[in-house]
Amino acid sequence: MSQDPTRDPAPHLTDPEGALRALVRPELTQLRAYAAPSGTPPIKLDANESPWPLPAALRARIAADLAELPLHRYPDPRAERVRAPLAAQLGAHPDQLVLGSGSDEVIALLCTALARPREGRARAVVLYPTPTFVMYRITALAHGLEPVEVPLRADFSLDVPAMLAAIAAHRPSLVFLATPNNPTGNAFADDALRAVVEGARDALVVIDEAYAAFAGRSLSAWCDAYPHVALLGTLSKVGLAAARLGWARLPSALAAEVEKARQPFNVNALSQAVAALALGALRPEFDAHVAAIVAERTRLGAALSELPGVHVAPSDANFFLLRFDADPAPRVARLAADGIAVRHFTGHGAALERCVRVTVGTPRENDALLAALAR
Ligand code: PMP
Repeated sequence: MSQDPTRDPAPHLTDPEGALRALVRPELTQLRAYAAPSGTPPIKLDANESPWPLPAALRARIAADLAELPLHRYPDPRAERVRAPLAAQLGAHPDQLVLGSGSDEVIALLCTALARPREGRARAVVLYPTPTFVMYRITALAHGLEPVEVPLRADFSLDVPAMLAAIAAHRPSLVFLATPNNPTGNAFADDALRAVVEGARDALVVIDEAYAAFAGRSLSAWCDAYPHVALLGTLSKVGLAAARLGWARLPSALAAEVEKARQPFNVNALSQAVAALALGALRPEFDAHVAAIVAERTRLGAALSELPGVHVAPSDANFFLLRFDADPAPRVARLAADGIAVRHFTGHGAALERCVRVTVGTPRENDALLAALAR
């Protein structure tokens, strides 16, 4: 058949990039990418990491382990050397665990698996209080699920009546509750958490314990008490952010389904080896770092509270959320000039207006931060 010369050329010929963009899910084109902090400032207090590298002897131990890895082979798809000690630590059956490249990946796996809309709805709903970890929203949207956000109270506690009303109205498939919460730093009260858990019995309620080590307790036992409760955890905050190892403890039947969505080799052999050491031989070192961070948190929190013009939110995590009376942008810029990176929440909504998050650093780093803020 001959071409009609009067017809417009196809869009993929005149604007190939626009034609490709038109194929992208609209939620994505409207989304702003997660701006993970990058670079290595001298004093890095912007990403809630542990401030301490491992001592040289322990790094040598890890290097020796890594040197033995058969790097020409695929890794163990079930990551048994991580799964087994982790299950023992959590008091779970190994088959209840889904492991991922950070808990970020596990959040994505849950959104993949639980994306089926309820009857009469166009999209499955993911519900969470805000402000909270931004990846719940980004991951929900990126997977075609509908995020529903319920504001926390002014003191960052859970607004239980509002949560229950939103759960009843939106019938979420997934509810995320980060406790301690990021970026506010507080752990939610047990009775408030329990009310939300009991009000969402036909959803999977995911208690994200990324910062639980700093609160000194876990709600792991709730998984036994409630068949619809899952727990999310990570090694990132206790000293192994680079290793990328996160997990969910799920109800067994659901874990088997989520496992089907997981890429078989999602946790690489190097991460498996390092994580296995962290859960075993190196555990005392990481526990000591957590204890030191908690002690520094007390000292740093007290000193920050003495500074004029800043309100310090109480923290159960390894960071503080500070609210300044005046726009903190010039201060954040001056800190950056001094080599101190912190996280400034501009454009993140009214609840985080004039807010800056600072990770608890080493004593020396915290002294430098305090001195710089006092100037
Ligand atoms: N949950 C919460 C509440 C977080 O703050 C973070 C990291 N910022 C994560 C999960 C993800 O951590 P990772 O992917 O490093 O395990």
